[in-house]
Amino acid sequence: MNVKIWLNRASARAALPLRAAVALGICGGLLLIVQAWFLSGVINGAVFGHRGVAAVMPMLWALLVVFALRAGIAWASERMAFRAAAGIKLDVRRQLLEHLFALGPLRMVTERAGELASTVTDGVEALEAYYARFLPQMALAALVPLAILAVVFPLDWISGLVLLVTAPMIPLMMVFIGRNAETLNQRQWRRLARLSAHFLDVLQGLTTLKLFNASRREVAVVAQLSDDYRKSTMAVLRIAFLSSLALEFLATVSIALVAVLIGFRLLWGELGFRAGFLILLLAPEFYLPLRALGTHYHARMEAIGAGERIVQLLETPAPPPPVAAMVLPATRRIGIGLHNVRCVYEPGRVALDGVSINIAPGERVALVGPSGAGKTTVVNLLLGFVRPEAGEVLINGLALSELDPQQWLEHVAWVPQNPRIFHGTVHDNICLGRTGAGRDAVRMAARLALAEEFIEALPLGYDTIVGEGGQGLSGGQAQRLALARAFFKDAPVVLLDEPSANLDLENERRLITGIGLLAKDRTTITIAHRLNTVTRADRIVVLDRGQVVETGTHRELLDRPGLYRRLVGRYAEAG
Ligand code: ADP
Ligand code: MG
Repeated sequence: MNVKIWLNRASARAALPLRAAVALGICGGLLLIVQAWFLSGVINGAVFGHRGVAAVMPMLWALLVVFALRAGIAWASERMAFRAAAGIKLDVRRQLLEHLFALGPLRMVTERAGELASTVTDGVEALEAYYARFLPQMALAALVPLAILAVVFPLDWISGLVLLVTAPMIPLMMVFIGRNAETLNQRQWRRLARLSAHFLDVLQGLTTLKLFNASRREVAVVAQLSDDYRKSTMAVLRIAFLSSLALEFLATVSIALVAVLIGFRLLWGELGFRAGFLILLLAPEFYLPLRALGTHYHARMEAIGAGERIVQLLETPAPPPPVAAMVLPATRRIGIGLHNVRCVYEPGRVALDGVSINIAPGERVALVGPSGAGKTTVVNLLLGFVRPEAGEVLINGLALSELDPQQWLEHVAWVPQNPRIFHGTVHDNICLGRTGAGRDAVRMAARLALAEEFIEALPLGYDTIVGEGGQGLSGGQAQRLALARAFFKDAPVVLLDEPSANLDLENERRLITGIGLLAKDRTTITIAHRLNTVTRADRIVVLDRGQVVETGTHRELLDRPGLYRRLVGRYAEAG
């Protein structure tokens, strides 16, 4: 979609406050004319009418009222405009987030996190000035000068003519300069996005960079990118300042022209003082909205630059939601079947090829295989993050593709390899935002995950803030917190990616006990990285290059000369 159309559409959602802001702005403009009228009356009366202060007093009072009204209206108009912009920003952010959720965690989200973050934060922020300043100003620039012309023409047609002829030159000049600036601005946004993406990369990989002594080089790269950004910012600003200069100059010359013409006619006695003075007071006000438009034109360019990226993101096709969403009948016994499943991430790179696995309700299945075999893909498939290109996934005999994804995920608990601990209390991290989660239920989940002990040792127990900027947790503690999440969710299906990080023996023992407890009476699929957990599985599925090469129990597989035996040999060597 064209960005300008999109910007327009977004504004429709805050049409009411925007219109109110414009209407108030126009009232302010009209009051300005009234103010000039009273002011010229006061000066005229006092200087040429040779009347005392008492005579012009009512007009002075009226002026005071007009001042107060204008201040009030300006305040209200500004408020309305910013409320409109805030509403639009909120709406756009919601739209963006919803779309990101629809895209799912596998698409782009992981690779371009920094860029996405800058679009959702700074990008959306850049819309504010456009909606709060530029759009209302646009309406004012069209209407207020017209009202002033309507006053000036009957008083003095020559001044009216000067205003009328010079006014269109300002927007013309703006368009002329703006065309060039638009491309510059878009380039600037791309630079900013690249800079934030790179910066995030560096932050996340700081340890690696330090260890490999590459941080210095990265600093140079960030410096280079920052410098590029500085240059493009300066180029944009140069144009913005240049256009302001041109507009100011044009407006000043035009006002001077009006003033000179009035001066001569006052001298020749062709024009009354009051009319001449009134026109002189109004002339700067005539150009003011046009000049302000020029100032805010920069906001428009920025909004277009940012909008381009927002539209791009919104138009990234998301997988279509299931047509007729079926609901899984309530049960705690869930069987899973993969039938001839084929998964492809990119053309030519097959992640799973003809995989068939049947898992009975309550069965504990371990997936093993070398790196890149497709273990994670099986889990992603069950979570609905990837869709099979061929074959199907059946849940209790129903096709996963036809189930309501939200409702299906209610049935699944997921314990990842590196669990994400969110900024918040331990309590919130276990119940993950489920409002009204009872303290007892959370405590119970923590106890089952063998996490209670370390949680109670934290400074504030369950109310300790953890995650980014909070109390740090060790890898084992984070794992057990994730396990507590799964206990709390109490879902009939558990997907587990075992931590491969080397935990100390004590932590490992606890974790394994916890996992064993969680797997009880639940259908469990574990991506196994260690031998001592594999042996507990009811069945082991060995994957290699996207295919199932062996299945069986630990004993059965050991008796066969196959991949599993080789892998176990390697485990033993490494262990
Ligand atoms: P495992 O978990 O067994 O190590 P994966 O399921 O992660 O294996 O990967 C299987 C194959 O799919 C690999 O060849 C991998 O390169 C590829 N793959 C995995 N994730 C993606 C992705 N997001 N985009 C493209 N290819 C991927
Ligand atoms: Mg993996």
